[in-house]
Amino acid sequence: MPDLTVPELLELDRRHVWHPYGPMPGRQEPLVVAAASGVRLKLAGGSGELVDGMSSWWSAIHGYNHPVLNEAAREQLGRMSHVMFGGLTHEPAVRLAKLLVDMSPDGLEHVFLADSGSVSVEVAVKMCLQYWRSLGRASKQRLLTWRGGYHGDTWQPMSVCDPEGGMHELWSGMLPRQVFVGPPPAAYEESYTQELRAAIARHADELAAVIVEPVVQGAGGMRFHSPAYLRVLREACDAHDVLLVFDEIATGFGRTGALFAAGHAAVTPDVMCVGKALTGGYLTMAATLCTTRVAEGISRGEVPVLAHGPTFMGNPLAASVACASIELLLGQDWLSEVKRIEAGLREGLAPAAELPGVTDVRVLGAIGVVQLDHAVDMKAATEAAVREGVWLRPFRDLIYTMPPYVTGDVDVARIARAVCAAAREG
Ligand SMILES: *Cc1c(COP(=O)(O)O)cnc(C)c1O
Repeated sequence: MPDLTVPELLELDRRHVWHPYGPMPGRQEPLVVAAASGVRLKLAGGSGELVDGMSSWWSAIHGYNHPVLNEAAREQLGRMSHVMFGGLTHEPAVRLAKLLVDMSPDGLEHVFLADSGSVSVEVAVKMCLQYWRSLGRASKQRLLTWRGGYHGDTWQPMSVCDPEGGMHELWSGMLPRQVFVGPPPAAYEESYTQELRAAIARHADELAAVIVEPVVQGAGGMRFHSPAYLRVLREACDAHDVLLVFDEIATGFGRTGALFAAGHAAVTPDVMCVGKALTGGYLTMAATLCTTRVAEGISRGEVPVLAHGPTFMGNPLAASVACASIELLLGQDWLSEVKRIEAGLREGLAPAAELPGVTDVRVLGAIGVVQLDHAVDMKAATEAAVREGVWLRPFRDLIYTMPPYVTGDVDVARIARAVCAAAREG
């Protein structure tokens, strides 16, 4: 097929290609990206460049076309891009597992490599249900979570996404019915901890696990909460024989100012999911980590194996890039970079608080959020950001950014200006 012109490409895209949460045929024209380098997306057809304020949905923490990650991919490509993981193993997967065990909260010892965040959540839920089944307590099969969460788009994850205002309302009658408590308040409130404790106690006999996004709820509403709630969950889960799952798919790898958000509270969950930034945004891969207690529990059961095994499990190419991305992260003063971006966003987003229609401006780590009192006009907001030379993807009533950690101060200021412009016009 010869190279497509931009209009040809857009017409084929509209007619044939689904986009995330998109209609068919497509209604809003996407921008065509020809290449990306550093923090810049280069648009096709000479339409210029945009500073990326989204890190491609939290993932491209080191920016695009990074020489170290490119080299890791190239080198691995010369060996093998993939082999099956059943009966075979390889250094990239083993090294990655060891890196994850070493850097994650103490006690997480075993790693299941999955091919996307949603699948890693499915695996986490399967681990928890199977753990209790193995121990002869098969009635423990529900999950408890707080409202405002997002855990992915496959079946089990959908069942623990916020049931209202989210994207999965259509299926509410068909999904497993989980236990929901109110959304976590930003600050520590004793009355909310009572609500958490009481709900866990009341449902303990039927609960396999509590699953939450620690400290930052991402796609469910970009809300932040006190890390002290994580300790409350840990204590209540221990007291009532319930497992605790942290979904760190968005928060992992430094984004909130701790390597994992669990670190803000020094809490170890029984099961933890990571994804998104795992490969520095290069390839799809996620992982589910668990403690020895969970692994041994499963192994004592009537079916003593974890019956899950994706075709592309442990993909060597993705694992190699993930190792390189983690080493790149840990080999630098990543915390100073995240703090620098946090300071830049705080300063740059402050003027948004004065705008009509803005109800809240919040910043934590390398995450900046402006909340409106109305649904964002996506087209107007996106165009306003693009005029400032920045790529943003608002949703619901939220205009937000989580830039790559390599974003320089001038570009952070520019992203903040774009968020303000989008808030003004969206
Ligand atoms: C993105 C996300 C997921 C889903 O990951 P996918 O790779 O998109 O399947 C799950 N949980 C959280 C917290 C996420 O941010």
